[in-house]
Parts: sequence; structure tokens; C-alpha cells
Amino acid sequence: MLPIHHIYPKLATPARVVITTHQKPDPDAMGSSLALSQVLKALGHQVTVISPTNWAAFLDWMPGTEDVLNYEITREKSARIIAEANWIFCLDFNTLIRTKHLVPVVEAATATKVLIDHHQQPAVESFDFGISDISKSSTCEMIYDFILEAQLQTYLNVDVAACLYAGLIGDTGSFRFPAASVSVHKMAARLKETGLNHTVIHENLYDNFMENRLRFIGHVLTNRMEVFYEYNTALIYVPKNDLLRYDIKTGDTEGLVNYPLSIGGIKMAAICIDRDEERKWSFRSKGNVDVNTFARRFFEGGGHFNAAGGRSSATLEETVKTFRQVVKENASEFQLI
Ligand code: 5GP
Ligand code: MN
Repeated sequence: MLPIHHIYPKLATPARVVITTHQKPDPDAMGSSLALSQVLKALGHQVTVISPTNWAAFLDWMPGTEDVLNYEITREKSARIIAEANWIFCLDFNTLIRTKHLVPVVEAATATKVLIDHHQQPAVESFDFGISDISKSSTCEMIYDFILEAQLQTYLNVDVAACLYAGLIGDTGSFRFPAASVSVHKMAARLKETGLNHTVIHENLYDNFMENRLRFIGHVLTNRMEVFYEYNTALIYVPKNDLLRYDIKTGDTEGLVNYPLSIGGIKMAAICIDRDEERKWSFRSKGNVDVNTFARRFFEGGGHFNAAGGRSSATLEETVKTFRQVVKENASEFQLI
């Protein structure tokens, strides 16, 4: 993978561009994709954003979401666009596996592949050009750097800023995680200069749910949470029936894993959700508990030091049992005790 700056001069020639990101895109994935899309369109490129799956409704306010293709319901069209692309930008993931059913389509594509990402241990061999920087708060911060370094700041308008700001607050927990560096705050200030209304973005992302989601959270925190004080760990597990009973949709479970971390002394929180095809894990930690390694070692996943995800093909009961056991057996290695 050659450094990203090699592509700056090449971008002057209009081309067919595809931008893709990880399955079930979050604010950083969708925000970075739509911001880059707007800038490349302004440069004269023909750009299509393709998401491997659907996404949460709380992202639909982002300028450009109406044109994003969901691969799962536009397979033929999306595959054709990818096959004909000159460039494929891969944002906010470290391994192609994160694009789910898109993997063979992207692998077979003849386009030049570019990675822009901040996750640990990237599979750099899959990309021609790119940048992987785990010190960056978010892929949105990296797209902002890209815009400045490639001398494209004239295209940094209020719509681009809105998308970038959403990813920035998503991945920094609204500026509270250690990744909220000096450059993150400077970037936020620069985005404000475009006329950005940050209050509206916070409302769109965090204050626009339906009552059922709050009732669901109440139920889950009361009935599906286990706290292991001896290992400073908490677990939430969500059976399929709970999702059906409360009519839970993509995005409604986002952020749920953070509730147990608010208990004083808890260093690691995990949530396991019984999805149709797999059991999906999310892990969060405070301080020196490395959930990237934890997710990689025990749950086929990875991510960042303090926020990672994983999966299991076992039943919910079995994978939760495995979790209890691996926490107990590895508590001291993972600095939980
Ligand atoms: P979340 O728990 O919000 O789904 O994900 C937390 C972080 O870990 C995100 O940066 C996400 O991209 C990453 N992540 C989530 N699931 C997986 C996974 O299965 N594999 C890898 N490598 N990363 C994941
Ligand atoms: Mn991210």
C-alpha cells in the first residue's frame, strides 16, 4: 500500500469512483463516505457511495444519504458500478471482511483501491494506496486531513462539515474519549466556521428515537445485565425475542454497551445481540483494558484499544457462557483485576 499523497495529482482527472465502508455503517462510516463523496463530486468525478447493508434511520438526515446504495437490495446494479469503477475508496474498516457480502465483488474489481482508516492491524495488502493511522479519532478526521492536504479546502462547505462533525462526535463520544486531541478540537472549530449548527447534529444523532427504544433499554438494563464486580466487568445479552417484542431496528442498540461502563469501577462492558445470521458482540473499556486484543482472541473481531466488536456463530447462551469463562480465565492478563 503506497502512501495516500500519491493519489492527489491523479484526482485532477475525472473518473468513476465508488466509496464503500463497513457493514451497518455508523456516523463515522457514513459521515466520512458522504463528505468524501461531496468533495470528489465537486471535483468533477462521478461518485457512488455503496453501503454493504442497511443503516440506522438516525443517519438519514445526512446530505447525500438518499443516493447511497444498499448492496443487499441493489446487488446487480451495485456490482456493475463497482466492476466499472476506476477508483474504490474503502473507509473506516481495516479488513475487507467488514464489507460482508461485498468482499468478492470488491476483490474482483480492477479499480485502484484506496484505504482511509483508523482501526488497528489493517490488511494493507488488499489496497494500492492509503493511510492507516490508529492515532486518529475517526475516519472523518482523516477525510478532513485529506481535504486540507490535497488542497481541496474550497469544497469544505456546511454540508461536508455536517457529515464530518457527525463522525467526529460519534467516534470521540462527543469529545470525551482520549482520541479527542488538540487537532480534533481545532477541526471542530474549523467546521463551525462553515456555518455548521452543531446542536442540530447532536439532536439528529441522539435525540430522535422512538419511545419503544427507551422502553427496550429499561427492560434490558433490568433483566439482561450481569455485573461481575470481582472482574470489574459487565455484560448485556439481548435475545432475539426482545428485539421482536420491542420492534428494535438497526441502530436502536447503538450506545447500549456504554450504560454498564457508567458503573464506578467497571473497566470492561460487553453486549451480545442475537442477530439472525450471527451473535454480534460489542466491547468497550476504560483505561488500560485492551478490548481490541480481547475481541480478536476470543470473538473473531477487533477494532480499537477501548472499543471493539466481534461475532460468534454459537448460540446466544453458548457464546455468553464462553464470555463469562474467558473473562474469569484471562482477567489478570487483560488488567481487569
Ligand atoms: P461497535 O461495537 O460500535 O460495532 O464497534 C466498535 C469498533 O470496533 C468500531 O470501530 C468497529 O468498526 C469495530 N468493529 C466492530 N465489529 C468488528 C468486527 O467484527 N471486526 C473488526 N475487526 N472490527 C469490528
Ligand atoms: Mn471510525
